[in-house]
Amino acid sequence: MVSYKELGLVNTRAMFAKAVKGGYAIPAFNFNNMEQLQAIVQAAAETKSPVILQISKGARNYANQTLLRYMAEGAVQYAKELGWRRPQIVLHLDHGDSYELCKSCIQMGFSSVMIDGSSLPYDENVALTKKVVRYAHRYDVTVEAELGVLAGVEDEVSAEESHYTKPEEVIDFVTKTGCDSLAISIGTSHGAYKFKPEQCTRDPKTGKLVPPPLAFDVLKQIEKKLPGFPIVLHGSSSVPQEYVDYINAHGGKLPDAVGIPEEQLRKASKSAVCKINIDSDSRLAMTAAVRKVFFEKPGEFDPRKYLGPARDEMVKLYKHKIINVLGSDGHAK
Ligand SMILES: [Zn+2]
Repeated sequence: MVSYKELGLVNTRAMFAKAVKGGYAIPAFNFNNMEQLQAIVQAAAETKSPVILQISKGARNYANQTLLRYMAEGAVQYAKELGWRRPQIVLHLDHGDSYELCKSCIQMGFSSVMIDGSSLPYDENVALTKKVVRYAHRYDVTVEAELGVLAGVEDEVSAEESHYTKPEEVIDFVTKTGCDSLAISIGTSHGAYKFKPEQCTRDPKTGKLVPPPLAFDVLKQIEKKLPGFPIVLHGSSSVPQEYVDYINAHGGKLPDAVGIPEEQLRKASKSAVCKINIDSDSRLAMTAAVRKVFFEKPGEFDPRKYLGPARDEMVKLYKHKIINVLGSDGHAK
């Protein structure tokens, strides 16, 4: 058993309480490799922003859970070397799908876990979440739960409605499970294709897709039921069009990729939403930067020469999110 506290990591409790009060949100960035991790830590250190390092199932399969956990330990030391005296870094399991997995991550040094029982019937979600919370709290590890199914790519907009988190369920769920934060579904979705073109309108000037707005009315109702309780938004990449356009113009193929406008995330950050998950945008930044090198210097074959610029581009992206969208800069001095 390794305690995250020995690794210099923190859980999300104090961080979220401060964020809800302060009207900003903590960035939760996924990492799968060294360059992403370096970029996240550098951006957080330079802006003095609390940060959540997330490890998904895909990341565990790709890079190995043990290796990623040691990299996160290294991240704390690296942050200090960069001049961040008291780094506020959380190591979080993204979309944990079983009690056993959450337990193994907690024993390994994760400071926060998500148990995602959102696809289960309500009572089973409650039971599973409760079990994870009971174990996690013994070690002062915080738990994120999910209620409502994140709208993926649905055929009809009306069908999406029924996937939204039901505000009438949240008090019962939070009380019964004891979870520390709640991921809700109000229209965000995973991936770079968050909406089908037919769900969007088109900007008459640019011809670009304009996605449907988030269900702020649902968020408001949830906030009313759970005043001050930390709310989490998954699938909150904005899919920057300049990356998509660059990729498409240089051999890529990402037709009609569309995300959540930053304006809406800025608005959400000021509410009880205190954790915003961003993954696809970093992938796009990385891909655009790598394509740029390959396009401009076809003879390049040293991975450092294309992953280095990719890392620089990600630092830029993360800092932009922290400063201009989430407003978390300067909150971890
Ligand atoms: Zn997610």
